[in-house]
Amino acid sequence: MLGVDYFALIYIPYLFWMTQEKLSLFKPTNQQLLSVSNFVLFRYILGLSYNQWLTKEYNNFFYGLFQLAVCFGFEEIYTYFVHRFIHNNRTLYRFVHKMHHQTRAESFILAFYMSPLEIAIILYPSSSIGLWLCYFYGINHYALELWYIGALYFFLWTHRGISSTTDDLRSTMAKLMPDTEHHWTHHQRPNYNFGAHFLDKLFKTCYTT
Ligand SMILES: [Zn+2]
Ligand SMILES: [Zn+2]
Repeated sequence: MLGVDYFALIYIPYLFWMTQEKLSLFKPTNQQLLSVSNFVLFRYILGLSYNQWLTKEYNNFFYGLFQLAVCFGFEEIYTYFVHRFIHNNRTLYRFVHKMHHQTRAESFILAFYMSPLEIAIILYPSSSIGLWLCYFYGINHYALELWYIGALYFFLWTHRGISSTTDDLRSTMAKLMPDTEHHWTHHQRPNYNFGAHFLDKLFKTCYTT
């Protein structure tokens, strides 16, 4: 098992509790089924990549920090430009990304609701590009685990929807979690908020009311 598997075993039940999301295990919707099977597919590809990356393990602490910075930088840049480009190209949008926008980022269970093509063109490359670049020199195992734990943490959380619960324990804890509004707004207004807040600000695609 990978570090991200252990994390998912704790995080997913926590999200169910936190968002009070209902999932009927005996009667899941087609959207939920596709989302879960995409998650399994993504995890499978990740497992193959881990096997390759860890053939060149280099567990230096400072190199690990560098690796995380490279992963973060390339992930943000790749996501912003490729995502924006796909929105501006009708054919690509139709075949790659339209499906994901059929949801309104209203449930973490539907976070992976997308065409498998989107995994191949956006999700996998954006999250792994930094690691493939670092692979030439070596891979810090701990930074690798941390990176994918962080990626899953953000990705599921940013699709959980805007909670209307007010002053109970769940919303108190929600305040400690990252902001979901930026990506949620992208699902409602697809011409804005293509990636990280700072990049949308920089390239003037940030939605402001
Ligand atoms: Zn989304
Ligand atoms: Zn989009």
